[in-house]
Amino acid sequence: MFEKILVANRGEIAVRIIRACKELNIRTVAVYSEADESSMHVQIADEAICIGKAPSSESYLRIDRIISAAEIADVDAIHPGYGFLSENAHFADICESCNIRFIGPSSRAMNALEDKALSRMLAKKAGVPVPPGSEGLVESEQDALINAKRIGYPVMIKAIAGGGGRGMRAAHNDISLVKGYHAARSEAEGAFGNSGVYIEKLIENPHHIEFQILGDNRGNIIHLGERDCSIQRRNQKILEETPSPLIENKHKDLRKKMGKAAIRLAEMAHYTSAGTVEFIVDDKGAFYFLEVNKRIQVEHPITEEATGVDLVKQQILIALGEPLRLSQSDIAIKGHAIECRINAEDPFNDFRPSPGRIEMHYAPGGPGVRVDSHAYAGYTVPPHYDSLIGKLITYGKDRREAIDKMSRALSEYMITGIKTTIPFEQAILQDPNFRRGVYSTAFVEQLLGGVRRDLISERD
Ligand code: ADP
Ligand code: ADP
Ligand code: MG
Repeated sequence: MFEKILVANRGEIAVRIIRACKELNIRTVAVYSEADESSMHVQIADEAICIGKAPSSESYLRIDRIISAAEIADVDAIHPGYGFLSENAHFADICESCNIRFIGPSSRAMNALEDKALSRMLAKKAGVPVPPGSEGLVESEQDALINAKRIGYPVMIKAIAGGGGRGMRAAHNDISLVKGYHAARSEAEGAFGNSGVYIEKLIENPHHIEFQILGDNRGNIIHLGERDCSIQRRNQKILEETPSPLIENKHKDLRKKMGKAAIRLAEMAHYTSAGTVEFIVDDKGAFYFLEVNKRIQVEHPITEEATGVDLVKQQILIALGEPLRLSQSDIAIKGHAIECRINAEDPFNDFRPSPGRIEMHYAPGGPGVRVDSHAYAGYTVPPHYDSLIGKLITYGKDRREAIDKMSRALSEYMITGIKTTIPFEQAILQDPNFRRGVYSTAFVEQLLGGVRRDLISERD
């Protein structure tokens, strides 16, 4: 077993990884920026090393400083979490060349799926359907116009390095295409240091359904069912559930079909560790590959609750070289799990970030309730990073029970001093269409469109 792991991340995911390490009797090293000195991951790790100033470009993205910290602390492995360096093949290579195990996919798999355009091509090769689109990069306005004409409007212009819903623009005609082309490029340059974009058909009001996969170093790959992440605002997930109501109620055959497609693609990439194959699905049940997230995902806990598999521990065991001790037939989604992302944002003010000091903090508990969070009373949410301060996960024997528990748990969750998305999550849960399990990625816009604004009420 590893003796010591460095967690190259912050916030709730750093806490989540440290928890898994503790249960496996592995010592942990936290790294932190000056803005995170009093963060929970620093307090619960066995050791903590400051790696620089608040901006992530000066700390959590500094490969040199993270490697120095790993060498000083003499760790066996690094867990990168999500975001930051988690999908950076160069970082993974440097870890390995310093004799530090990178807890994530092999560099072979990372390179095969390096960006979205490359992944799309691999999916095609694997016989996995992709939305009609450009062959690789689109490098000029002219090229964009030719492609859009061929594909037919509406289209999406997407950054090949994109993530977190950024670097993406919809276009419905030539004028918005040219505008969107430049906007997507410059947003991607700013966010990812890579302005490459491609174009694909915009699938209208689709469902976002993704498959969790696990692969070991011996070529065994399984999937752990799907997650429905169609509840999104600006292409960013805000609530996720498993199983997917669309699959359960309308397209039962999709689980097998999409699961097989996900595995086929993962096999082509020689995928190892935990990963997610994302798809969009239209109402008729046609599915299209979107991208592979080569890391642990924010919404991984719902899969853990519904399958009983600890995905972070699996990542650690796989990095050690252990074979998967699970086969596809061992995996079943039992019951129903939902996650609500609690962000430090003001839902009454266009979701403006709301950093600051948390005065009072009470996290819900009771049967079927899990909270993954680094927040506590007296903690100051720094303005420099993403606004996720906690994830509330509920588990029930069926969807109805999971929803009732979520509603109850949200009503107990008390965070004062800053604004949070808790009231907005409550509004989603009360919506009749959500309750019926009938929703697409257009759901939140419809909810915010005014019709159901009445449901979002300030609590205190
Ligand atoms: P998930 O797919 O796990 O739901 P999100 O898209 O919400 O993840 O992203 C999780 C975090 O990782 C966010 O902080 C997001 O900004 C960051 N992130 C995701 N993809 C990238 C990327 N390509 N580059 C940089 N940061 C990213
Ligand atoms: P990111 O890397 O930011 O997560 P994705 O490619 O996974 O980007 O897309 C994020 C979300 O954007 C999807 O869940 C979906 O709601 C929307 N989206 C992306 N591509 C398309 C498309 N071709 N048609 C319709 N919606 C799309
Ligand atoms: Mg995605």
